[in-house]
Amino acid sequence: MMFKKMISFLLIFICLTVSSLAEPAHEHTWGEWLPDEAGGHTATCTEDKETLTVKHYSFSVNFGQFSGSICCVCGKTPEGVLPIIEGAQAQSQKSKPSSQRGAFIVRGTGSPFSQEPGVLFAFTAAYVRDGALATWKDVSTVTIPLDINLPETALLIRVQPASGDDSIQNPEQHIEMEYTYADGILSFTTKTPALYMLIEST
Ligand SMILES: [Zn+2]
Ligand SMILES: [Zn+2]
Repeated sequence: MMFKKMISFLLIFICLTVSSLAEPAHEHTWGEWLPDEAGGHTATCTEDKETLTVKHYSFSVNFGQFSGSICCVCGKTPEGVLPIIEGAQAQSQKSKPSSQRGAFIVRGTGSPFSQEPGVLFAFTAAYVRDGALATWKDVSTVTIPLDINLPETALLIRVQPASGDDSIQNPEQHIEMEYTYADGILSFTTKTPALYMLIEST
């Protein structure tokens, strides 16, 4: 009797295991990545409510009185979270665009650093896949609706963080970029995931 029960339990267990293995591979559709307490960011799949936690992917920056790092996935900064800018787009300049993986995420805000008023607007731009950085394949025209009053003399810079072990040999660079700003749309060309800043010219 006991043996029969055990067999039927075992059969049920095997059936459950096999049916879960037989489920088709599910490509998760992650909702927004949010910073968590443990030093990473977490998103929930909009379909099956599964969650995934991944380490931050942060760009460090030292500019004027501000020093810190900013995550291009969840937007975490030392002073809060950069919100997603809806409607930001990257358009490949190739006539036959490469197949790009991931979602294009732009996060930013005006006057982001209380210690450094010279930064008028800061934003990150990157392709993100499963909470991590995805390779940005093609040089692209990036358009970002900003809807701010930008002085004509403002400069757009890309922050290239110090690289390698030796930040003295490869120090952080602030690379000036060409851009246009018309009808509330910032437009420039890049294929570099980075922190970008609109700054007052000095
Ligand atoms: Zn899912
Ligand atoms: Zn993050």
